[in-house]
Amino acid sequence: MESVIRDQIVSFVLESPDNRFPDCEQPYFEEPLIGFAAADDPLFSEYKKVIGPFHLTPREIMKNSYGERAGEAATVICWILPITQSTRESNGREEVMPSRPWALTRAHGEHFNTLLRMRVVEMLRFAGAQAVAPLLSGMWQPVMDPRVGMASTWSERHAAYAAGLGTFSLSDGFITDKGIAHRCGSVITNAVVTPTGRSCSDPWSNCLFFRDGSCGVCIGRCPAGAISRQGHDKEKCKDYAYGEVRSTVGELYGVMETGCGLCQTKVPCESCSPAGTGTGENKPCSS
Ligand code: SF4
Ligand code: SF4
Repeated sequence: MESVIRDQIVSFVLESPDNRFPDCEQPYFEEPLIGFAAADDPLFSEYKKVIGPFHLTPREIMKNSYGERAGEAATVICWILPITQSTRESNGREEVMPSRPWALTRAHGEHFNTLLRMRVVEMLRFAGAQAVAPLLSGMWQPVMDPRVGMASTWSERHAAYAAGLGTFSLSDGFITDKGIAHRCGSVITNAVVTPTGRSCSDPWSNCLFFRDGSCGVCIGRCPAGAISRQGHDKEKCKDYAYGEVRSTVGELYGVMETGCGLCQTKVPCESCSPAGTGTGENKPCSS
């Protein structure tokens, strides 16, 4: 089952015409990283403390989606869609507003990510399994929590951490073997797949700042002053990315979800794990 799922996700990303810019044949995303977490991994219960009690477990989402027919949630399938080099480079040249390719990737590329979620669910159901994408389940919603600030009922990045795909960062991003510039997604199923396992030593070990106190390049890349040695100010970031950026270039680019991502480009963790912690076929930056 694992290789079937991997093959389906990879071929959809590489071949789908929806993974293409509207005005050229360039894709939004390169070949994905894929990982699997056990749905009963204690981390998912831990997230109710770390993020908040509102964060759902795979079992809760499966139960809500299938009701009495729900099988036992067994696996959380996670993927990372790395943003292409040319898009990363275009954003890396910017200092105030995101580049047009970056904004189109945030808007249309995320639409492709939604299609990928639907595709994976459809494929699993066709094979006789139960499957649900948390973000499409009707249970996903943003939450404003007094303790952690902006959050949601399901975090794709926390699922990806459980699946061994990377760690968190000073800028609140998620550093994988293919870097921090990506979109991610997940699907819960009752199909059993062996978990990928986590090789990182702690939840921040791919970030140089947390590893040895160095780097901090993302601090200087943020035009909103939303990143400091104390961490990432979600409110400042949101006000800039969804306020100033949107009103300045949204109409020009023809998309309202522009993102920003300046802190994810022209930084050491842009396209690899700079702490030398990369595993598998994707070599860390230092290799
Ligand atoms: S730029 Fe440096 S400090 Fe910032 S997230 Fe990347 S590795 Fe960490
Ligand atoms: S996305 Fe933009 S505003 Fe938000 S932290 Fe990164 S650089 Fe700053």
